[in-house]
Amino acid sequence: MKILVINCGSSSLKYQLFDMRDESVLAKGLVERIGLPGSVLVHRPGDQKVEINADIENHEKAIALVLEAVTSPKHGVLASLDELSATGHRVVHGGEDFSGSVRITPAVMEAIRKNSDLAPLHNPPNIMGIEACTNLMPKIAQIAVFDTAFHQSMPAEAYIYALPYEYYEKYKVRRYGFHGTSHLYVSQRAAALLGKPAQDVKVITCHLGNGASITAVKGGKSVDTSMGLTPLEGLVMGTRSGDIDPAILSFIMEKEQLNIAQATDVLNKKSGVLGLSGVSSDFRDIEEAAGKGNKRAQLALDRFAYVVRKYIGAYAAALDGADAIVFTAGLGENSSSMRAKICAGLGYLGVAIDEAKNKIRGQEVDISAAGAGLRVLVIPTNEELVIARDTLKIIEKA
Ligand code: ADP
Repeated sequence: MKILVINCGSSSLKYQLFDMRDESVLAKGLVERIGLPGSVLVHRPGDQKVEINADIENHEKAIALVLEAVTSPKHGVLASLDELSATGHRVVHGGEDFSGSVRITPAVMEAIRKNSDLAPLHNPPNIMGIEACTNLMPKIAQIAVFDTAFHQSMPAEAYIYALPYEYYEKYKVRRYGFHGTSHLYVSQRAAALLGKPAQDVKVITCHLGNGASITAVKGGKSVDTSMGLTPLEGLVMGTRSGDIDPAILSFIMEKEQLNIAQATDVLNKKSGVLGLSGVSSDFRDIEEAAGKGNKRAQLALDRFAYVVRKYIGAYAAALDGADAIVFTAGLGENSSSMRAKICAGLGYLGVAIDEAKNKIRGQEVDISAAGAGLRVLVIPTNEELVIARDTLKIIEKA
């Protein structure tokens, strides 16, 4: 059983090809600058790295190149596409239509299109990827795995905004949450590391990457999460503001003479730790600048950690106490200083981390000090594996 996992962004495409007999990755890669000059496919079969420069004008061309690469006699890993059992697609917004993964049919495509309204930057490239695969591999099953699905279990009190109720009824304005495959994966691994069944565990999962979100997971289900109608709400992020007073929007629009598109662009692309530090959206650059005494870089790190810590407190309340906090994604997996900064001040919850254990990077480790009341775990996420597993489950059911 070989499964291709595809994650299409507006100008990039990531893929991984799994052999599901042992869940090994046969090949993976990245297409960048789709539709732009200098487009390139970096294909990695095993430990090799093959760079293919070509004019990649659209997503269909990108996927055609990926299929060529995985079946190439030189650096391919499949004798032919007949070996492929299915393709799993990451789809960002499933709205209220999907609480799990599904086989893609015309009705499913229609629902994904309808939900583009809620994720105008994300769903359209996801749709392009699915359409390209359907055209190029009409006989191979296509499965959609949604970022929002895991959070569909949230109770109404967690997902509803205190706005006129008709906005929910007419436009489905509510909290959806994102990074669902990541929160699901790390919460399941956390239960395994704690040696308990998922239904007996309460965990707070912190996905801290360029995009960042935090989820309260009880009995294997998401009961609250920090991202909202869109991935702009919640934590401070690389370039996104996270929570702000909504009145700031009209205030700044008037002062800076911005239209709604320009103001939204500021919140999505010019805010977060980039906006605060003026240095970069990349935490490595900011940590370096702060280390050299840059005060705004230090403020960006302080603000980031403070907001994560506040959410952990809020979700400990939402869960009525937790068994573990999990750190994952680029920053959560790699930055021991950020983990330590967030955990400082959580002693009242029983958090105490072991400095030596916290020095690790990108490994599954319990970094709590001996005797700590609440465990702190670092768990590298694996969204592609969740997509491949769901895809396999669905085609095996058929
Ligand atoms: P996304 O998938 O949302 O683009 P990632 O999960 O790959 O994001 O995380 C990217 C972030 O992780 C970047 O801001 C990067 O600086 C940060 N990061 C990665 N490695 C380290 C590290 N060793 N120390 C600090 N931050 C790191």
